[in-house]
Amino acid sequence: MTEQTNNQDPVEHDDATKVLLPYLNTLFWCLREGVIFVDREYSVGAWSQAVETLTGRSTGDAIGQTIRPSLLCLHDMKSGKPVAGEDCPVAACLQSGKIRSGDFRIIGPSGREANVNLTAIPVINDDNIVLGSVILIHDSSVQLDLQRQLKDLHEVSVLDPLTQVANRGELERVLNETISNCEQANDYNASIIICDIDFFKSINDNFNHHIGDLALIAFANQLKKFVRSQDLVCRFGGEEFVILCAQCDVESAIERAEDIRRSLEVTALPMLEGKCITASFGVTQLRPTDSATDFFVRADSALLKAKETGRNRVVAVASPLNDEMNSVKGGSLSGIKWKTEGRRSLIVEEFVTQTPISVLVEKLRGFILEFDAEIRQVKSDFASIEVELEDRKDYSRRGRFRVMFEFCEKEVASEREGMRKMSYIRVMIREAKRGWFSTNCTELAPTLLAEIRRYMMLSEESNQVRVQSAGSPTEGR
Ligand code: GH3
Ligand code: MG
Ligand code: MG
Repeated sequence: MTEQTNNQDPVEHDDATKVLLPYLNTLFWCLREGVIFVDREYSVGAWSQAVETLTGRSTGDAIGQTIRPSLLCLHDMKSGKPVAGEDCPVAACLQSGKIRSGDFRIIGPSGREANVNLTAIPVINDDNIVLGSVILIHDSSVQLDLQRQLKDLHEVSVLDPLTQVANRGELERVLNETISNCEQANDYNASIIICDIDFFKSINDNFNHHIGDLALIAFANQLKKFVRSQDLVCRFGGEEFVILCAQCDVESAIERAEDIRRSLEVTALPMLEGKCITASFGVTQLRPTDSATDFFVRADSALLKAKETGRNRVVAVASPLNDEMNSVKGGSLSGIKWKTEGRRSLIVEEFVTQTPISVLVEKLRGFILEFDAEIRQVKSDFASIEVELEDRKDYSRRGRFRVMFEFCEKEVASEREGMRKMSYIRVMIREAKRGWFSTNCTELAPTLLAEIRRYMMLSEESNQVRVQSAGSPTEGR
């Protein structure tokens, strides 16, 4: 067959066409994509099985007819109106000799509808004359249905089925993402509001569980009215909800919680026979050293305080960068004014060495490569990485750590050598919490420090001096 099609002799070429015809018929019968051939007089020469199915028009009816939008039952995708003759992509293709395509809806005589992409490709001979067009019709309905199903599935997986606000899993995902974004931007302008309906049990007791459900839906809808597009409302469980507020400091979050609280106490709920419900609120802002759990637990403890002190109130944890935190930023045994504070670190150690910082950074690079660490932030005087470590004796014990390095160069006076430049390094190791799960970080942190020391040649045996050793996390360094 190949030999015959390649042969340019006209007689043999005719033979080749005859041989090819049954193959073409089979192809036309089984192709999923609709195919139509038209000549330059707009006359239909071939009409595949898929076009029959899409349009409801048989091949026998179509052959020899003039191609026009009505023959194809073409309608505008958005308005659903029939496509006018002057908007026909096939005519445009035959007139311009260029590919023309568009998205349409085919509405067949039986009312069957399909969304399609139609492409008209010109057939041009060696003398650049347009002989006709091959029209391809792709049924995109299945694809659109799949996209719709995927969207539905996504909604099921992230939404609370009763209230249609985010579920707890989605909160966990967005919370971690928010913390990562804040860390990368070094801007901790994000707050969390946890709220819990007051005496909700009595609603179930005095009315019934179904009415309780309706009150929960009304409560969630009320919360939605007070959030911006970048915020997330989540049902954490039962009658407890969380609002994660991006780009929002604690003062704005308190204001928002107050607005919600005030509106709740005056909103009469029809399902509760016109009674109102109240809620208590705990508010806090993200801090630089927070894990997702730290952030959440702090707001939760504020909520507890709101309950304990009478309910129907907002309690916030004081400003995120309070005095207590600032006080640990400064002094150390080395006298260096460190910018990064080491609170909640499992280990904080400072080293001093004559090795220039550029060399120390190179050594740190080696450590990152060897341990497949993830770089979170790098500045001229600061680096933050995340790394996983396993216990070599017991591989089930592992931990994921956030390690921060701060570098500082200082001229110091030496009796023998006069002034000389020294490099100071502060290493802070803490648990990198991703989710609500705990690991063996506390036990593994000293091993990690030993590895870092080894790579950066900060060993105790060398002439480098260990300035200060770690405090425990509970000491609140
Ligand atoms: P407090 O002011 O201390 O928060 O009191 P409370 O009654 O709201 O809190 P408590 O934890 O004692 O009771 C919560 C109630 O919420 C108990 C539970 O039956 C009810 N609840 C939890 N989930 C649902 C739900 O999906 N639908 C309904 N109707 N009730 C729920
Ligand atoms: Mg409650
Ligand atoms: Mg509760």
